[in-house]
Amino acid sequence: MSQTETYYRPPSEADSFIIRVMHGCPHNACTFCNLFKDVPCKVLPLEEVLSGLEQDARDIGPEHLHLLTSIYLEGGDPLAINSKYLIAVMERAKDLFPALTRFACYATARFTAKKTQAELNALAAAGLRRVFVGLESGSADLLRQLRKGCTPDDLIRVGQMLREAGIEMDVSMMLGIGGQEHSREHALSTAGLLNAICPECVRIRTFVVKNGTEIGADYLNGRFMLMKPHNILRELRLLAENIEGRMQLLSEHWTNFIHFNAMLPEAKLQLLEHIDKHLLIAEQEFRPIGISAEKS
Ligand code: SF4
Repeated sequence: MSQTETYYRPPSEADSFIIRVMHGCPHNACTFCNLFKDVPCKVLPLEEVLSGLEQDARDIGPEHLHLLTSIYLEGGDPLAINSKYLIAVMERAKDLFPALTRFACYATARFTAKKTQAELNALAAAGLRRVFVGLESGSADLLRQLRKGCTPDDLIRVGQMLREAGIEMDVSMMLGIGGQEHSREHALSTAGLLNAICPECVRIRTFVVKNGTEIGADYLNGRFMLMKPHNILRELRLLAENIEGRMQLLSEHWTNFIHFNAMLPEAKLQLLEHIDKHLLIAEQEFRPIGISAEKS
């Protein structure tokens, strides 16, 4: 399968029907990401997407059309696409699939911030229910170093606009992305940013160095050191301790040294105890750390 044929979607969208609207990522500059390095960003022509939907409806057959209730709009950042295009796709899909009630997609703060409140409201009215945003860190310095293309203030503003539109914000953050040197600042500023945004769900990832990335080159040259499991767990503990808002904290990813699904603030104490128990496990019992050739 070529890179352009690889589809990416969050695990929680496993039951959604996938409709590609974009190849690659319009930002494609994050220093830790190798997902779309060799994939030129291209929005699929609207006619192609609409005729693809019609073909899908024929393939699924009239007796099964009601089974399709959710569509995942696939691409590095569909919210970078013109809102009229996205609404046309969603409206046509709803015409074709009568039980369809929701759409979801990846989104970056960089491009979502370019939408007006009226556009986000219109996207929500057309059925956009959830966007997945890679927040990574609440530290302005780290976001700049990682070339995320947004600041904590951008993320707060985008979070407020999405909330006002009624679109759920599902964010991911990356433990260890600042290395040991920035660990404390990363944990505290990320907790502060999450408290300001109060996203519906925070997905925890642990940073894994990827081949073909700028951080990968730094790692190979000895300029970046990966944090050890216990220090990652301490960073997580500091983050969790300082979250005060109401949000789901979910750690289900293979990169993580601990797994849980905690609704904060109710389950905070329980979560801290869970982390403390993992801190008693010898470091060699956790997965090995190092560079990965995987794209993720
Ligand atoms: S992390 Fe997301 S926004 Fe950044 S380059 Fe990769 S796909 Fe694009």
